[in-house]
Amino acid sequence: METNYYLMTPGPVPLPPEVLKALSEPPLHHRTPEFMKIFSEVLILLKHVFQTRQPVFIHTSSGTGAMESALVNCLTAGDSVLVLISGKFGKRWAEMAKILGINVQVFEVQLGQAIKAETVKKLIVRGGFRGVLCQACETSTGVMNPIAEIASYVKQCQDTLLIVDGVTAVGAYDLAMDRLGIDVLISGSQKGLMCPAGMSFIALSEKAWNISNTVRTSRYYWDLRRERAANENGETLFSSPTNLIRALRAALQIMLDGGLQAHFQSVLKRAYAVRAAGAALGLPMFAQVPSPSLTALTLPGKIDGQKVTAHLQQEYQVTIMGGQDQLKGRILRIGHMGYIRNQDVIHVIDALARTLCYLHRSLFPESLIAVSKSEALRFLDSDAS
Ligand SMILES: *Cc1c(COP(=O)(O)O)cnc(C)c1O
Repeated sequence: METNYYLMTPGPVPLPPEVLKALSEPPLHHRTPEFMKIFSEVLILLKHVFQTRQPVFIHTSSGTGAMESALVNCLTAGDSVLVLISGKFGKRWAEMAKILGINVQVFEVQLGQAIKAETVKKLIVRGGFRGVLCQACETSTGVMNPIAEIASYVKQCQDTLLIVDGVTAVGAYDLAMDRLGIDVLISGSQKGLMCPAGMSFIALSEKAWNISNTVRTSRYYWDLRRERAANENGETLFSSPTNLIRALRAALQIMLDGGLQAHFQSVLKRAYAVRAAGAALGLPMFAQVPSPSLTALTLPGKIDGQKVTAHLQQEYQVTIMGGQDQLKGRILRIGHMGYIRNQDVIHVIDALARTLCYLHRSLFPESLIAVSKSEALRFLDSDAS
């Protein structure tokens, strides 16, 4: 099925044909041997993509559900956490923890900046925190945070867990849970994992499991102890979204068949192409340390980003995102995750360049259309033009 709809947002993302096909299969019942076989395969594939030996759990929720699951399974009211905030999603961790009665200390950087591991080292190793909460990739700014370094400090504290939101990292770039020493890693289905929204994921290290067993927070749907027991019996606690899980199997197989590193490389290649086109158009990158998952481009003050995204949508069937909150109108965010072919990248860049020329001819001469595309093509394979 060919659609003329170009989705290059940092989630949801376009889906591979195999994933679309799995979604359209007649539904299986979740208590059948057919489904349980698929489910157990998916749990194994998920471990490979999370790069962990620990079990990975699937919740039927958007990514925020797994964020909450992480907190209710690992923290008790009255515990103290350090929340490292580099944008909107970091703020969500802080807000959620406060609602659960957790003492929140915030370390916040300016929008566009990444957390500098050196500057939080003292805070972390001083101890006293039950958790350090952080985004691997902060999707609101396109920033990638230094999880490996942060993990190396958290490891020095026996009672502190590193809780990482990897919604736009898992499946998009190399974030190896066990090797880095992440204690709790969560993700969602509609971004790096190339599925529709509706599933979220969580895995706990051994250290996190030990702490989790002492946590006194009430939990029912999110209780990973019960879910673990069910999964070990080859079952799920509640109804499973069987079509989504079949779709997930297809998506994980695609990622793993060619090798995870090759998959990451293809995401990165699109990132380089978009960054090169952005540079040719004179749009600086907003993120100080950019993530491979998405590129945030800064617009000149005179340009209203909302006009740009609206024009792209109306004239070119291209969906990219603007900024949120204070960044509304000031940046454009272009996603690199999901089933995006080279010609789609070129179409989006062409459309963006034409839109900018149309809206602001004095700043963007027409010659930039060809230049931005040829800059992007340097990073894409030859079948793209
Ligand atoms: C998308 C996203 C989430 C979760 O959002 P949902 O809308 O609940 O799926 C969490 N963290 C980050 C970094 C995200 O990009």
